[in-house]
Amino acid sequence: MTEAQADPDGPGAHRPALRFGDRSLTYGELAATASPLAARVAEAGRIAVWATPTLETAVAVVAALLAGVPAVPLNPKSGESELGHIVSDSAPTLVLAAPGTQLPPVLAALERVDIHVDADIDVRDTEAASPDTGTPETPALIVYTSGTTGPPKGAVIPRRAIATTLDALADAWQWTGDDVLVHGLPLFHVHGLILGILGPLRRGGSVRHLGRFETAGVARELSEGATMLFGVPTMYHRIAETLPDDPALAKALARARLLVSGSAALPVHDHERIAQATGRRVIERYGMTETLMNTSVRADGEPRAGTVGVPLPGVELRLTEEDGTTAVEAYDGETVGEIQVRGPNLFTEYLNRPEATTAAFTEDGWFRTGDMAVRDPDGYVRIVGRKATDLIKSGGYKIGAGEIENALLEHPGVREAAVTGEPDADLGERIVAWIVPADPQSPPTVDELADHVARRLAPHKRPRVVHHLDALPRNDMGKIMKRALTHD
Ligand code: ATP
Ligand code: MG
Repeated sequence: MTEAQADPDGPGAHRPALRFGDRSLTYGELAATASPLAARVAEAGRIAVWATPTLETAVAVVAALLAGVPAVPLNPKSGESELGHIVSDSAPTLVLAAPGTQLPPVLAALERVDIHVDADIDVRDTEAASPDTGTPETPALIVYTSGTTGPPKGAVIPRRAIATTLDALADAWQWTGDDVLVHGLPLFHVHGLILGILGPLRRGGSVRHLGRFETAGVARELSEGATMLFGVPTMYHRIAETLPDDPALAKALARARLLVSGSAALPVHDHERIAQATGRRVIERYGMTETLMNTSVRADGEPRAGTVGVPLPGVELRLTEEDGTTAVEAYDGETVGEIQVRGPNLFTEYLNRPEATTAAFTEDGWFRTGDMAVRDPDGYVRIVGRKATDLIKSGGYKIGAGEIENALLEHPGVREAAVTGEPDADLGERIVAWIVPADPQSPPTVDELADHVARRLAPHKRPRVVHHLDALPRNDMGKIMKRALTHD
């Protein structure tokens, strides 16, 4: 998969590749460990990987890539019904798991293969040479979408998409083999697996996985030579909350070459708090399971709160009007359109869903992301929200939930916020705010919040209804599950 791995005894063999807690592998050890496993799975049609945040998962995915066999990473925290859906949909012939892992009954019918990681392996002893039978179009991974808007769909991701997206990110982020990534994300989605594991391996750099995200681990790794942090907004929120009491964290973040956020919108309030405390601005990138990465703020560009930057090299991006085909030409920071993308970063299809696949593309091959955005005069994309849940049609206006959420988060009485629309006889839809108050004993009133938003944005963007919650419903990536709010 990478030059460094292809030759386990070559010049890169002794460079560090992966570290999870106190267990680590060099490139040579990774190749020597993954090769026999690749030989073992080479005959399988499709495999599942019990994707705990461990060295074993990374080794299993590398082995599947070497074997040219598509791997389906399974979320170990999924409930039985979601796992059952994914397993019957993707029909793997075997499941790879770390030795000793107890698998749930729903996987009992699958043949199980243990992933043996032996860090003391002799790197020259690898004649169980990896088959490496793939072509660029060989499906490498079948990754299920996060299920934010409906049941997860299996996106078939070819090697070509992985290679092109990682190389485009290398260009945008000036990402090299000298980079050391601090990683605290799960390994069953694109962010943690493709960007966070395969990314550093493709560059010949290394990964230090925290097992579980915690700010102390971030501070430690960045002060001990790590150069990059990839996170989701909930992680940066934790960082923003911790910074005032943790000068060591502030110092460590200030040293990082790159702080990257993605998978959901990074609230402007958190972006600003981190910038103030560290002098560093988090850069945002925007992607999807189906398209891998589409845009990013570039390392040599200007990081700006609330934007996801510019299209990556090789990615065509357009905004379209409601008909889904007429391009929006405006670069005025105001005209909203649906983001559509085209390029070598795209998936092949939704597994077993030919109709969903057809519906997802326009006739001339643009992928409909379902995300709405505006573009600034210099081409920076600002995501307004998802067409399905974040665009509220109220009083003749189309209002994005995101800017109202950002405004609410700037109110000192609000810790977390989500905004939805609900039917209203006069307005068409009215704006509803779901907030986690900073102090549950004295939550801000609806009038207070309505005034706050009206002053910051515009009167028609003020919430008419406010619900108080102990926590917002979020999935494993920290994404707010708006359908759980509105369907209760
Ligand atoms: P499902 O498709 O199953 O409903 P999902 O869309 O959340 O779930 P993913 O493919 O993991 O599944 O997430 C992609 C979505 O995440 C994008 O379509 C977009 O809405 C959102 N997203 C990703 N990065 C960003 C970002 N930087 N800013 C705002 N939204 C983002
Ligand atoms: Mg989606």
